[in-house]
Amino acid sequence: MATIEALFKLQELELALRKNREDLAGIAARIERDEASVHAHAVAVRAQRALAALENEQSALDVDMQDTIERLGTVERQLYSGSTAASKDLLALQREVAYYKERQGNLEEQLLAKMEQVEAAQSRAAELDAAYRQAEAAWRESVPSLQTEQQRLQRHGEEMAEARDEAESALTAAEVKGFRSLEASRGQAIVRVERGMCGGCAIAVPSHELQLLRSTHDPVRCPNCGRYLYPG
Ligand SMILES: [Zn+2]
Repeated sequence: MATIEALFKLQELELALRKNREDLAGIAARIERDEASVHAHAVAVRAQRALAALENEQSALDVDMQDTIERLGTVERQLYSGSTAASKDLLALQREVAYYKERQGNLEEQLLAKMEQVEAAQSRAAELDAAYRQAEAAWRESVPSLQTEQQRLQRHGEEMAEARDEAESALTAAEVKGFRSLEASRGQAIVRVERGMCGGCAIAVPSHELQLLRSTHDPVRCPNCGRYLYPG
């Protein structure tokens, strides 16, 4: 095989191996943790917290209400017991009764509104919890097929690694060294010539080099960027 062909094959295999490793990392991450479930869980937890906060507010209103009803009862008993004779004191007690009644009315309104909020938050929390459980179940169900894909990718990677080693052993140490140093400085060592242009630097390849590409099997470099040219 011509040197450039062998180098190109090596490069293709190494690119494919890199892609294979990325795919494997991606699949391992998806087996390890499901972003959709993690997100659904966070949302469900937030809804639970919002519900708990509303329930606390409702409890506080309940306590306030009980307290108000008790105070109202106490003042009313004082008012109607006949033990308070002075009209000044009676007036004060009547004012207190009126105050507590108004307070009770306000609290009733607030409690009703709060109970509606709690109910809405309860159904929202239940919905989001169900959505989370569904997402988690779907992920657990998908794990076996992800593992099958993972194994397939691993086998494919092993095969490509073998082919890569084989391709490398078909080259001389000097050829590999030249290829590696180009790779280190240019990222991609071998580029295709497309419509007369270097695929690496997009500069027109001079006709002398294009001629060489057709006549020799030795690597031909782009005079501008120095990459090896591969006939398009
Ligand atoms: Zn170039």
